[in-house]
Amino acid sequence: MATVVVPDRLTSHVAAGHPWLYVNAVPAIPGARTGEFVTLLGQGRRPIGQALFDADSPIALRVLSTRKDETPGPALWHRRVDQALSLRRSVLDLRHTDCFRLLHGEGDRLPGVVVDHYAGFLVLKLDTPAWLPHLEQLCDALEHHVRPRGIFFKGISGEHEAPRNLRGDEPPEHILVREHGMRLAVDVRRGQKTGLFLDQRENRALVRQVARDRRVLNLFSYTGGFSLAAALGGATHVTSVDLARGAIDGARHNFSANDLDPTAHSFVTADAFEHLAACAAARELFDLVIVDPPSFAPRKQALRAAEAAYTKLNAAAIRQVRPGGLVACASCSSHVPMDLFLQILRESARTARRALRVLEIRQEPGDHPTPLHFPEGRYLKFVLALAE
Ligand code: SAH
Repeated sequence: MATVVVPDRLTSHVAAGHPWLYVNAVPAIPGARTGEFVTLLGQGRRPIGQALFDADSPIALRVLSTRKDETPGPALWHRRVDQALSLRRSVLDLRHTDCFRLLHGEGDRLPGVVVDHYAGFLVLKLDTPAWLPHLEQLCDALEHHVRPRGIFFKGISGEHEAPRNLRGDEPPEHILVREHGMRLAVDVRRGQKTGLFLDQRENRALVRQVARDRRVLNLFSYTGGFSLAAALGGATHVTSVDLARGAIDGARHNFSANDLDPTAHSFVTADAFEHLAACAAARELFDLVIVDPPSFAPRKQALRAAEAAYTKLNAAAIRQVRPGGLVACASCSSHVPMDLFLQILRESARTARRALRVLEIRQEPGDHPTPLHFPEGRYLKFVLALAE
C-alpha cells in the first residue's frame, strides 16, 4: 500500500478527527491512483491512519480510519453503516419519519459518501470518484444492514456520472415518504440533490408549531416542505415561491397528498427577489416569511458577493413581515459560518429598519452529524426571529 508522510503540524488534526488532507499540504504520492488506499505516516514514520486517494481533487486524501484495528475494506464499511443506522434509530422517531440521511459522509466517517433513505429506497451520491472502485462493497454493506428495496446511484458531485440503479427495485417516479407524519412525494431522478432537503426536517417541524393563524410567504419553497408544514400547522394561507416550475408543481401535488386544498393557497413560479419587490410594491405583508435560498457562496472567492446578496434578500424579506410577525432565515453555504450569518441578519434588519428578536437558532440535525474538528463540514444555519 502507498504511504505518505503527514507534516507534523497536521498529525494532531488527523488524530482529532479532521477528515481531509489537501494536495498542497502533503508530499506527492508517486504511482498512487484515484481510489487507492494510502497509509498516513506520522513522526518516525509511525502509521497514524488510512485514507482514500483522489489524484484530481484539491482534497487529495480523505481519512477513513485512525485506529490500528480498522483497515479499509468490506469489514470497515459494514461497521460504519451499522453504526450510522444505530445513530439514526436513536435520534429519529422512525414511526413518523421514513426519510432521513443514513450516511453523512465525513460525519459518519465514510468521507465523500452520502446516502439518503426514502421509504425503503436508498439514494447514494459521491463527492469523489475515488469511491467508485468500492461501490459494490458499499452496496453489499448497505444491503446487509438496511435491507432496502433498492439502491439508486445519483452520481458524483461536479462530474457527469450517469445516474443508475445499482441494486434491487428501480425507484418509482415518485416515492411517497413521511416526515413527522407529513407526506411528501420525492422524485429521486429529477429532483435536486438526492430528492429532498432532509436537513431542514426539524426546522419544518418548528414552522409547523408556530404557523397557526398566520399568512405565510415561503421563498425558495422547492417542493413545498415548509409550506406544507405551515399549512398543516394551521396557517390561513401559504404562498410558495420557487424559480423551478417542476418544484412548484410538486408543491401543489404535495398539498393534495396531505388533504390540503391547493386552490386555497398560492403557488408562484418566480424569482424570489422579484417576487419580494412585487410584494413591496403592493404593500403585501405576511405573518411569517421563510427564506431558504440555495448557497450564494459555493466557492470561498464568491463570499463577498454572497454576503451582499444574503443581506439584500433578508432585508427585503424582513420588510414584508407584519410588525410583530415572524421571519425564518436559513443559509446552507459552508463558507458562511454561524457568526457571519448572524452578522448578515443584523445588517439585514438594520437595512430594513426593524428590530429582530431571536427565538431559535439551529444547525444540522442529528442525522447530519459533523466531526467537531471539521468546521468546514458545518453548513446549515437557521434562525427564527420576531420582527418588531
Ligand atoms: N426550503 C426547501 C429547500 C430550498 S432549496 C425545502 O425545505 O425543501 C433552494 C430552492 O431555491 C430550489 O428549489 C431552487 O429551485 C430555488 N431557487 C434558486 N434560485 C431561486 C430564485 N432566484 N428565486 C426563487 N427560487 C430559487
